[in-house]
Amino acid sequence: MSLNSTIRQIGQALFFPQSCVVCHHWVLNPDFSPLCRNCLLSLKPLGQRICYYCGIPLPGDLLEVHGICSQCRDGPKTYDFARAYGAYQGSLRLVIRKFKFEGRQRLAYPLAALLETCYRGRGLNLKAHWIVPVPLYSRRRRERGFDQTLLLGHVLCQKLKVPVFGGLRRVRPTAPQSGLDLRQRQENVYDAFLLDQAELLSRRNILLVDDVMTTGTTVSEISRLLRTKSTVHKIMVLTLARVPLLYTQL
Ligand SMILES: [Zn+2]
Ligand SMILES: [Zn+2]
Repeated sequence: MSLNSTIRQIGQALFFPQSCVVCHHWVLNPDFSPLCRNCLLSLKPLGQRICYYCGIPLPGDLLEVHGICSQCRDGPKTYDFARAYGAYQGSLRLVIRKFKFEGRQRLAYPLAALLETCYRGRGLNLKAHWIVPVPLYSRRRRERGFDQTLLLGHVLCQKLKVPVFGGLRRVRPTAPQSGLDLRQRQENVYDAFLLDQAELLSRRNILLVDDVMTTGTTVSEISRLLRTKSTVHKIMVLTLARVPLLYTQL
Protein backbone atom coordinates (compact mmCIF):
# COMPACT_ATOMS: atom_id res chain seq x y z
CA MET A 1 0.00 0.00 0.00
CA SER A 2 1.44 3.40 -0.94
CA LEU A 3 2.05 6.20 1.55
CA ASN A 4 -0.57 8.36 -0.19
CA SER A 5 -3.15 5.60 0.08
CA THR A 6 -2.34 5.09 3.77
CA ILE A 7 -2.68 8.81 4.50
CA ARG A 8 -6.00 8.93 2.61
CA GLN A 9 -7.32 5.99 4.60
CA ILE A 10 -6.28 7.53 7.92
CA GLY A 11 -7.95 10.81 6.87
CA GLN A 12 -11.09 8.94 5.95
CA ALA A 13 -11.11 7.11 9.27
CA LEU A 14 -10.75 10.36 11.19
CA PHE A 15 -13.25 12.48 9.31
CA PHE A 16 -15.69 9.93 7.83
CA PRO A 17 -15.72 6.95 10.18
CA GLN A 18 -18.01 4.17 9.00
CA SER A 19 -18.92 0.66 9.98
CA CYS A 20 -19.32 -2.49 7.90
CA VAL A 21 -22.93 -2.94 6.72
CA VAL A 22 -22.77 -6.64 7.63
CA CYS A 23 -20.79 -7.03 10.89
CA HIS A 24 -20.95 -3.35 12.00
CA HIS A 25 -17.27 -3.31 12.90
CA TRP A 26 -15.34 -0.17 12.12
CA VAL A 27 -13.98 -0.47 8.57
CA LEU A 28 -11.18 1.08 6.55
CA ASN A 29 -10.93 0.29 2.84
CA PRO A 30 -8.85 1.60 -0.08
CA ASP A 31 -12.14 2.17 -1.97
CA PHE A 32 -13.90 3.73 1.09
CA SER A 33 -16.67 1.16 0.89
CA PRO A 34 -18.59 0.15 4.03
CA LEU A 35 -17.85 -3.58 3.73
CA CYS A 36 -14.96 -5.16 5.61
CA ARG A 37 -12.61 -7.64 3.99
CA ASN A 38 -13.81 -10.55 6.11
CA CYS A 39 -17.44 -9.97 5.17
CA LEU A 40 -16.53 -9.52 1.50
CA LEU A 41 -14.68 -12.85 1.55
CA SER A 42 -17.66 -14.48 3.25
CA LEU A 43 -19.91 -13.76 0.23
CA LYS A 44 -19.88 -17.23 -1.24
CA PRO A 45 -20.18 -17.88 -4.97
CA LEU A 46 -22.65 -20.37 -6.43
CA GLY A 47 -21.35 -23.90 -6.76
CA GLN A 48 -20.59 -25.68 -10.02
CA ARG A 49 -23.98 -27.35 -10.31
CA ILE A 50 -25.83 -24.80 -12.39
CA CYS A 51 -27.90 -24.85 -15.57
CA TYR A 52 -25.55 -24.31 -18.51
CA TYR A 53 -27.82 -21.68 -20.07
CA CYS A 54 -29.56 -19.67 -17.35
CA GLY A 55 -27.13 -20.41 -14.49
CA ILE A 56 -29.78 -21.46 -11.95
CA PRO A 57 -28.41 -23.85 -9.30
CA LEU A 58 -29.51 -27.42 -10.01
CA PRO A 59 -29.72 -30.45 -7.74
CA GLY A 60 -26.96 -32.90 -8.59
CA ASP A 61 -29.20 -35.65 -9.94
CA LEU A 62 -30.87 -33.25 -12.39
CA LEU A 63 -27.50 -31.97 -13.52
CA GLU A 64 -26.17 -35.42 -14.26
CA VAL A 65 -29.18 -36.27 -16.37
CA HIS A 66 -29.69 -33.04 -18.28
CA GLY A 67 -27.28 -30.26 -17.36
CA ILE A 68 -29.97 -27.70 -18.13
CA CYS A 69 -33.15 -26.75 -16.25
CA SER A 70 -36.66 -27.43 -17.49
CA GLN A 71 -37.29 -23.81 -18.41
CA CYS A 72 -34.28 -23.78 -20.72
CA ARG A 73 -35.33 -27.11 -22.24
CA ASP A 74 -38.74 -25.65 -23.04
CA GLY A 75 -37.50 -23.11 -25.53
CA PRO A 76 -34.54 -21.17 -26.84
CA LYS A 77 -33.19 -18.24 -24.85
CA THR A 78 -32.78 -14.82 -26.35
CA TYR A 79 -29.46 -14.53 -24.51
CA ASP A 80 -26.69 -17.11 -24.87
CA PHE A 81 -26.07 -17.78 -21.19
CA ALA A 82 -26.44 -16.16 -17.78
CA ARG A 83 -24.19 -16.30 -14.76
CA ALA A 84 -24.62 -14.88 -11.25
CA TYR A 85 -21.97 -14.55 -8.59
CA GLY A 86 -24.02 -15.91 -5.69
CA ALA A 87 -27.47 -16.67 -4.30
CA TYR A 88 -29.76 -13.79 -3.37
CA GLN A 89 -29.86 -14.59 0.33
CA GLY A 90 -27.99 -13.92 3.55
CA SER A 91 -25.18 -11.37 3.54
CA LEU A 92 -25.10 -10.93 -0.25
CA ARG A 93 -28.79 -10.00 -0.28
CA LEU A 94 -28.20 -7.60 2.61
CA VAL A 95 -25.27 -5.86 0.90
CA ILE A 96 -27.20 -5.50 -2.38
CA ARG A 97 -30.17 -3.99 -0.54
CA LYS A 98 -27.93 -1.55 1.34
CA PHE A 99 -26.45 -0.56 -2.01
CA LYS A 100 -29.76 -0.13 -3.84
CA PHE A 101 -32.15 1.14 -1.25
CA GLU A 102 -30.00 2.96 1.30
CA GLY A 103 -27.79 4.88 -1.09
CA ARG A 104 -24.52 3.20 -0.04
CA GLN A 105 -23.02 3.90 -3.45
CA ARG A 106 -19.46 3.00 -2.42
CA LEU A 107 -20.59 -0.63 -2.23
CA ALA A 108 -20.40 -0.55 -6.03
CA TYR A 109 -16.65 -1.24 -5.68
CA PRO A 110 -16.75 -4.56 -3.81
CA LEU A 111 -19.89 -5.60 -5.70
CA ALA A 112 -18.29 -4.91 -9.08
CA ALA A 113 -15.34 -7.00 -7.89
CA LEU A 114 -17.77 -9.91 -7.47
CA LEU A 115 -19.04 -9.35 -11.02
CA GLU A 116 -15.45 -9.39 -12.27
CA THR A 117 -14.75 -12.65 -10.41
CA CYS A 118 -17.87 -14.20 -11.95
CA TYR A 119 -17.06 -12.96 -15.45
CA ARG A 120 -13.47 -14.19 -15.36
CA GLY A 121 -14.37 -17.49 -13.71
CA ARG A 122 -17.56 -18.28 -15.56
CA GLY A 123 -17.39 -16.14 -18.65
CA LEU A 124 -17.04 -19.26 -20.77
CA ASN A 125 -14.15 -17.50 -22.52
CA LEU A 126 -16.44 -14.78 -23.82
CA LYS A 127 -14.44 -11.70 -24.80
CA ALA A 128 -16.92 -8.91 -24.12
CA HIS A 129 -16.90 -5.79 -26.31
CA TRP A 130 -19.63 -3.81 -24.53
CA ILE A 131 -21.02 -3.65 -21.01
CA VAL A 132 -24.76 -2.94 -21.24
CA PRO A 133 -26.31 -2.11 -17.84
CA VAL A 134 -30.04 -2.74 -17.41
CA PRO A 135 -31.26 0.84 -16.87
CA LEU A 136 -33.75 2.22 -14.37
CA TYR A 137 -36.66 4.34 -15.55
CA SER A 138 -35.72 8.06 -15.30
CA ARG A 139 -38.20 8.85 -12.55
CA ARG A 140 -37.00 5.91 -10.45
CA ARG A 141 -33.42 7.05 -10.94
CA ARG A 142 -34.31 10.55 -9.72
CA GLU A 143 -36.11 9.16 -6.69
CA ARG A 144 -33.20 6.89 -5.81
CA GLY A 145 -30.57 9.48 -6.63
CA PHE A 146 -28.54 7.12 -8.78
CA ASP A 147 -28.87 4.15 -11.12
CA GLN A 148 -27.26 1.24 -9.29
CA THR A 149 -26.69 -0.94 -12.33
CA LEU A 150 -25.16 1.90 -14.32
CA LEU A 151 -22.80 2.57 -11.41
CA LEU A 152 -21.86 -1.11 -11.26
CA GLY A 153 -21.27 -1.02 -15.02
CA HIS A 154 -18.89 1.92 -14.76
CA VAL A 155 -16.82 0.34 -11.99
CA LEU A 156 -16.76 -2.92 -13.93
CA CYS A 157 -15.64 -0.97 -17.00
CA GLN A 158 -12.55 0.20 -15.08
CA LYS A 159 -11.76 -3.36 -14.03
CA LEU A 160 -12.32 -5.12 -17.37
CA LYS A 161 -11.34 -2.25 -19.68
CA VAL A 162 -14.58 -2.81 -21.56
CA PRO A 163 -16.68 0.29 -22.43
CA VAL A 164 -20.20 0.94 -21.14
CA PHE A 165 -22.89 1.21 -23.81
CA GLY A 166 -25.26 4.08 -23.07
CA GLY A 167 -27.84 3.55 -25.81
CA LEU A 168 -30.31 1.42 -23.87
CA ARG A 169 -33.18 3.25 -22.13
CA ARG A 170 -36.18 2.18 -20.11
CA VAL A 171 -38.95 4.23 -21.69
CA ARG A 172 -41.80 3.52 -19.32
CA PRO A 173 -42.09 2.65 -15.65
CA THR A 174 -42.46 -1.03 -14.83
CA ALA A 175 -43.87 -2.56 -11.67
CA PRO A 176 -41.46 -4.50 -9.44
CA GLN A 177 -41.20 -8.02 -10.87
CA SER A 178 -41.40 -9.70 -7.47
CA GLY A 179 -44.84 -11.10 -6.76
CA LEU A 180 -45.78 -11.45 -10.45
CA ASP A 181 -46.13 -14.77 -12.23
CA LEU A 182 -44.14 -15.46 -15.39
CA ARG A 183 -46.81 -14.22 -17.80
CA GLN A 184 -47.35 -11.01 -15.82
CA ARG A 185 -43.58 -10.46 -15.72
CA GLN A 186 -43.37 -10.76 -19.49
CA GLU A 187 -46.25 -8.30 -20.00
CA ASN A 188 -44.73 -5.93 -17.44
CA VAL A 189 -41.47 -5.48 -19.36
CA TYR A 190 -42.71 -5.96 -22.94
CA ASP A 191 -41.54 -2.99 -25.04
CA ALA A 192 -40.33 -1.19 -21.92
CA PHE A 193 -36.90 -0.52 -23.44
CA LEU A 194 -35.58 1.43 -26.40
CA LEU A 195 -32.27 1.05 -28.17
CA ASP A 196 -30.31 3.93 -29.71
CA GLN A 197 -27.05 3.58 -31.64
CA ALA A 198 -27.79 -0.07 -32.29
CA GLU A 199 -25.20 -0.17 -35.07
CA LEU A 200 -22.42 0.06 -32.46
CA LEU A 201 -23.41 -3.38 -31.19
CA SER A 202 -23.25 -5.09 -34.56
CA ARG A 203 -21.30 -8.38 -34.39
CA ARG A 204 -20.15 -7.50 -30.87
CA ASN A 205 -20.27 -9.61 -27.68
CA ILE A 206 -22.51 -8.08 -25.03
CA LEU A 207 -22.18 -8.27 -21.26
CA LEU A 208 -25.69 -7.49 -20.04
CA VAL A 209 -25.31 -6.45 -16.39
CA ASP A 210 -28.02 -6.39 -13.72
CA ASP A 211 -27.98 -6.65 -9.95
CA VAL A 212 -30.41 -9.51 -9.30
CA MET A 213 -31.90 -12.13 -11.60
CA THR A 214 -35.05 -14.05 -10.75
CA THR A 215 -36.65 -15.68 -13.79
CA GLY A 216 -34.67 -13.62 -16.28
CA THR A 217 -37.73 -12.02 -17.90
CA THR A 218 -36.22 -8.52 -18.00
CA VAL A 219 -32.89 -9.60 -19.47
CA SER A 220 -34.72 -11.84 -21.96
CA GLU A 221 -36.79 -8.88 -23.13
CA ILE A 222 -33.67 -6.71 -23.52
CA SER A 223 -31.86 -9.51 -25.36
CA ARG A 224 -34.85 -9.82 -27.71
CA LEU A 225 -34.61 -6.09 -28.40
CA LEU A 226 -30.85 -6.28 -29.00
CA ARG A 227 -31.30 -9.15 -31.45
CA THR A 228 -34.19 -7.42 -33.20
CA LYS A 229 -32.49 -4.06 -33.65
CA SER A 230 -28.90 -5.18 -34.14
CA THR A 231 -26.85 -8.15 -35.26
CA VAL A 232 -25.19 -8.71 -31.91
CA HIS A 233 -23.03 -11.81 -31.63
CA LYS A 234 -23.10 -13.33 -28.12
CA ILE A 235 -25.09 -12.04 -25.13
CA MET A 236 -23.92 -13.00 -21.65
CA VAL A 237 -26.06 -11.93 -18.73
CA LEU A 238 -23.96 -11.14 -15.66
CA THR A 239 -25.63 -10.50 -12.30
CA LEU A 240 -24.60 -10.26 -8.67
CA ALA A 241 -27.17 -12.66 -7.35
CA ARG A 242 -29.65 -15.26 -8.44
CA VAL A 243 -32.92 -15.77 -6.61
CA PRO A 244 -32.98 -19.46 -5.78
CA LEU A 245 -36.12 -21.16 -7.09
CA LEU A 246 -37.74 -24.13 -5.47
CA TYR A 247 -36.64 -27.40 -6.98
CA THR A 248 -40.26 -28.08 -7.87
CA GLN A 249 -40.01 -25.17 -10.30
CA LEU A 250 -37.02 -26.66 -12.13
ZN1 LIG B 1 -17.84 -6.86 8.14
ZN1 LIG C 1 -31.82 -22.91 -17.23
